[in-house]
Amino acid sequence: MTGSARVRLLGGIGTIGGTKLLVETGSARLCFDFGVAYAPGARPFDERLKPRPAALLRDLMYWHLAPPVEGIYPPALAEPAGLVPAGSPGQDPWTVFITHLHLDHMGLTRLLDPSVKLLASEESVRLARGLRAAGEPVEGPELQPVPLSSPVRVGDVEVVPLRVDHDVVGACAYAIGTQDGWVVYSGDLRLHGTHPEWTEAFVQAAAALKPVALFLEGTRLPEERPTNSVPESEIAERVLTIAKAHGGMALVNFYPRNVERIQALGAHAALSGRKFVLQPEVYAQLQAMHEPMDHFLQYRRAGQDGGDVDAQEVRKDPGAYLVHLPYRQITELVDLDPPADSVYMLCNGEPLGIYDPAYPNLMRWLESFGVEGVRTGTSGHAAPEALDAIATGIAPRVLFPIHSHRPDLMQPPGLRIQLPVFGETYRLADLG
Ligand SMILES: [Zn+2]
Repeated sequence: MTGSARVRLLGGIGTIGGTKLLVETGSARLCFDFGVAYAPGARPFDERLKPRPAALLRDLMYWHLAPPVEGIYPPALAEPAGLVPAGSPGQDPWTVFITHLHLDHMGLTRLLDPSVKLLASEESVRLARGLRAAGEPVEGPELQPVPLSSPVRVGDVEVVPLRVDHDVVGACAYAIGTQDGWVVYSGDLRLHGTHPEWTEAFVQAAAALKPVALFLEGTRLPEERPTNSVPESEIAERVLTIAKAHGGMALVNFYPRNVERIQALGAHAALSGRKFVLQPEVYAQLQAMHEPMDHFLQYRRAGQDGGDVDAQEVRKDPGAYLVHLPYRQITELVDLDPPADSVYMLCNGEPLGIYDPAYPNLMRWLESFGVEGVRTGTSGHAAPEALDAIATGIAPRVLFPIHSHRPDLMQPPGLRIQLPVFGETYRLADLG
């Protein structure tokens, strides 16, 4: 039936991320998020084994790493995969909305045809500018900003981006209005961040729409209740307390996209009389984002020009610094040569956990230098109890748990729950 709105999920089922939520009507084709499921240690491709360039999409689709969508890919990718390319007769253009700039939500945008409209919040676009400066650009069609809370019209569909709190700047959820009612897609969100009021306002705004369907992330569902979530507001202080308790170097690893946390670390470092030394990529990212730079110095790696502080200077007076040291730059330990009683704080940067093959390798490096490793971060995702509050607060007619290894554990009282099936079409009119 033309005009009746349909939703389909091509990813985000039984996986953390990789969600692609498709909403189609007679006059509009929209896709929400276009990322890669987060699965280090369980990837079919690695440094030695790559998908075939001439059959890239076919190889990715075999492993459900890219979604089989007609009319969204350029001919060179679509045709070898047996898909109709973008711009073919009868193919209406796609509009892709991104909730936030984590790879599990946008890591595949590089595959999109240049004619696809790619939209995200203004803050996400600001972050994209920073990532470009850091040498890690958002590839694919140019990301265009949509203002928060104001509706964007695509054909007969109205999309409202609603800000939420997550561990990345610019995160939003989307409310999608169709002739057959509203669909709400949470993206990733939490209630223990620095801005719980953003997530709470999202819940209220979504509830007011009386949505037919809610697609809600459930990353932390397997955790045991009662769940402990360290508030984001405590992280920076904890890091500096740990630094103070160690007489050697204080090294820290974090997500470069969590700009709010970087600023908090800088402010707390300054309060403790330390200078926060950032790797050049992150320093360039923050500069390109026009962030205040008062609390930051730039690390100078061997053979590099510019920068404020090098390994020898840190070595001379370790107590004067907090040094950013991501996994990718762990080789700097050779130059830093940390003295006794040094500490490395894993503050949610990569590698995230033992399931990532990089994790044991990081531990091997730290052990070799006698550096103590400490994990001190907090999740970007809502605890199971918070998910219950969000779901019951929004009270959709049907709740679809997604973005979780255990979606079956999402069981807020009083709600009709449907575990989504990959590729299945749900007509909104049938869900009422
Ligand atoms: Zn995610």
